[in-house]
Amino acid sequence: MAPFDPARQLSQRTAAVEEAAILRMAQRARDLKAQGRSIVSLTVGEPDFDTPVAIREAAKQALDEGHTHYGPVAGIPELRAAIAAKHRRENGLDYTAAEIVVSNGAKQSITNVAFSLLDAGDEAILIAPFWVAYEGIVRMAGGTPVIVPTTAAEGFKLPPERLAAAFTPRTKLIIINSPCNPSGAIYSRGELAALASVIAAHPSAMVLSDEIYEYIAFDGIPASFAAIDGMRERTITVNGCSKGFAMTGWRLGWSAAPEPVAKAIGKVQGTFTAGANPFVQRAALAALEGPRDEVEAMRDQYRRRRDLVADRLRQMPGVGFDPPPGSFYAFPEVSRLLGRRDRATGATIATVDEMCDWLLAHHGVATVPGSAFGDPACIRLSFAASEADLDEGLTRIARAFAGLAG
Ligand code: PLP
Repeated sequence: MAPFDPARQLSQRTAAVEEAAILRMAQRARDLKAQGRSIVSLTVGEPDFDTPVAIREAAKQALDEGHTHYGPVAGIPELRAAIAAKHRRENGLDYTAAEIVVSNGAKQSITNVAFSLLDAGDEAILIAPFWVAYEGIVRMAGGTPVIVPTTAAEGFKLPPERLAAAFTPRTKLIIINSPCNPSGAIYSRGELAALASVIAAHPSAMVLSDEIYEYIAFDGIPASFAAIDGMRERTITVNGCSKGFAMTGWRLGWSAAPEPVAKAIGKVQGTFTAGANPFVQRAALAALEGPRDEVEAMRDQYRRRRDLVADRLRQMPGVGFDPPPGSFYAFPEVSRLLGRRDRATGATIATVDEMCDWLLAHHGVATVPGSAFGDPACIRLSFAASEADLDEGLTRIARAFAGLAG
């Protein structure tokens, strides 16, 4: 029998997408741990807290009540109404329940949006550094990512002139992620309004506003792009339960969009999957309608850890770092350390990819290279880790960097 030939037998669509560096680093860290090495992993993008009890109880009750069957593709009406109410109450957004589509995680919502808006060759503007999955999703949907860089000196936020310069007649989508993974940047209302004034001049482009880290913001609720004058009809707001409620494994997210777009999103979801898990939807209802004290307690812990990470990173010569206003990621700039030689091994660390490989192999600490997020000057550390792990991980990083000559 002829051997399997990926080039002939797999779709070009799958070949166009690479394995995510985050998953690769996380797997390498697990492999080394399994070999008995002491490894501190600061790679994962998920809360280390358990889902609050009341939410788990709501799921158990829904299971016992028999909510285990197919439901409506766009979600159960009670949850869609609760999401609309949440947006009104917390974000100043006026969506009807018919404009909400509940999905198996925000990632599916983003995929639904890409498949709803993009035809082959259409362009999607991604603001680097960006969540790595956007690029693969856009490519799988047939679109072309157009990557626009920002710098640490800009607070990793896109100036309107650079957005204006990135538009072409093929631009169909702009993804704004505030608070941002990996930089933690949050756009103020004024900064969003400045971007909106550019977008207003390009009526065939829509904005996907990914607000999944909304509850992990340290200075109040971040502004929503759809709340900017004139932008409601131009925006799809994506959010979900994963990060704020520590519900990553439950897979529950949503999109909120003008009704014709919401209908298209529902059509895509109905084609690929179906409605989200019905007992998880009832747990999400309990999350959204319940008190926020546990969400706030988790955020307070993230803030403490951010301050701990900031204190340590700032003491490392050659590392540039401003504490992020949101998310649970630190994205220090390490470009001044590149090109230096490790005194212990004699190896020169030329890129952030080499730096992360070296930190893991020789110092037992797993991080993710910024190149995975479109920024080759930085590395990402997740502080969704215990204070003990953070302390040990940062001690190892400091020791590693101190061993670089030059
Ligand atoms: N958007 C961003 C920016 C993320 O970092 C993540 C997860 O890491 C997601 C969306 C996906 O969230 P979900 O778990 O709801 O699919």
